[in-house]
Amino acid sequence: METVVSGIRSTGNLHIGNYFGAIKNFIRMQEEHNCFFFIADMHALTTHPKSEDFKQSVKNVVVEYLAVGLDPEKSTIYIQSDVPQISELYLLMNMYAYVGELERCTSFKDKIRKHPDNINAGLLTYPVLMASDIIIHKATKVPVGKDQEQHLEMARNFVNRFNHLYNVDYFPEPYAFNFGENLVKVPGLDGSGKMGKSEGEGNAIFLSEDPASIRKKIMRAVSDSGPTEANQPKTEAIQNLFTLMSLVSKPETISFFENEYNGCSIRYGDMKKQLAEDMIAFTAPLKDEIEKLHSNEKYLNEVIAYGGEKARESASKTLKEVREIIGFMH
Ligand code: AMP
Repeated sequence: METVVSGIRSTGNLHIGNYFGAIKNFIRMQEEHNCFFFIADMHALTTHPKSEDFKQSVKNVVVEYLAVGLDPEKSTIYIQSDVPQISELYLLMNMYAYVGELERCTSFKDKIRKHPDNINAGLLTYPVLMASDIIIHKATKVPVGKDQEQHLEMARNFVNRFNHLYNVDYFPEPYAFNFGENLVKVPGLDGSGKMGKSEGEGNAIFLSEDPASIRKKIMRAVSDSGPTEANQPKTEAIQNLFTLMSLVSKPETISFFENEYNGCSIRYGDMKKQLAEDMIAFTAPLKDEIEKLHSNEKYLNEVIAYGGEKARESASKTLKEVREIIGFMH
C-alpha cells in the first residue's frame, strides 16, 4: 500500500477535465492505497484572494468529491486550511526552493500573463505549497492531469535537496500517477488548450451543469469548415471534439464519426448533438447526487471535521520529524 495525495483548487465547480484528469483515478486509488484528497483553498487565494462565496466554493468541491464516489471512510477528505502543519512545512520548504527555478515554471509564466495586476509571491511559490501538500503525508503517488507534471518534478527537486542537505533519506520522491497510462489532458471547447475553469466562459463542462447549458456550450464549440479530402489530418479544434467524445461516447459512435470525417461527409452539427447527449448522460447521475448532498449540511460538516482530524494527525507526525531533522529546539 502506498500513500497518495491529490487536491483540487476551490475556485469553482468540478469540470470534466478535473474528472478525467484526476478524480477518476482518486476513486480507483482509494480502493488500494492510503489516500488523502483535499480541497486547496489556500492555493485558491493566489488567484481569487477575495471571494464572497469562499466557504460555499469549498463546500461545493467537498460535495462533488462525495458525489463522484470518494468515501470518507476509505480516503481522508479534508480542507487544506484545516491543516496548519501544511503551512509550516511550506515555510520551511521555501528554503530549499530556488527563485530561478520557480520563475521558470510554465504555470507561473501563464498565471502572470493572465493576472498581470496581481503577481503575488504566492503565485511564485505555488509549487512549494503543492510539494508541501504532498510530502506532509510522505506520499509517493499523485493522481493529476498532464498540466501538473512540471510541479511534480519540482517537488522531487525540493525533497532531494532537503534529504541531501540534512543527509537523511526522509522524504520519498513523489510521482504523477495514472495507472501506467500517459497523463491526461482534457481539451476545452474553445478550439485550443485545456479545459479549465479560468479559461473563459463556455470552455468547460461542469459535473453539476444542467442539460440545456451543456447543449448550448457544445453546439457553440469551435470547429472548422470541414475536411476537403479523404483522411485529412484533423485541426486542433476537431481533434478536441473527438477527444471529448472518446471520454463519454460509445466506441461505435466514435468510429461512426471518424468514418464520416475520413469520407468528408461529416456534419459537425450532428457530431456536436451526439457529443452533447453523451455528455449529458454521463453527468446526469453525478448532477443528481450533487443536488442530494447539498441538502445534507450536517453530514457535510461531519465529513469535513472527520477528514481534518485524520489529516492533522498524519501531518503533525511528519512536521515533528522534519523539525527534528532540521534541528529546532522543540
Ligand atoms: P485545478 O482545477 O487546476 O485545481 O486542477 C485540479 C486537478 O485537475 C489537477 O490534478 C489537474 O491536473 C486536473 N485537471 C484540471 N484541468 C484538467 C484538464 N483539462 N485535463 C486534465 N486534467 C486536468
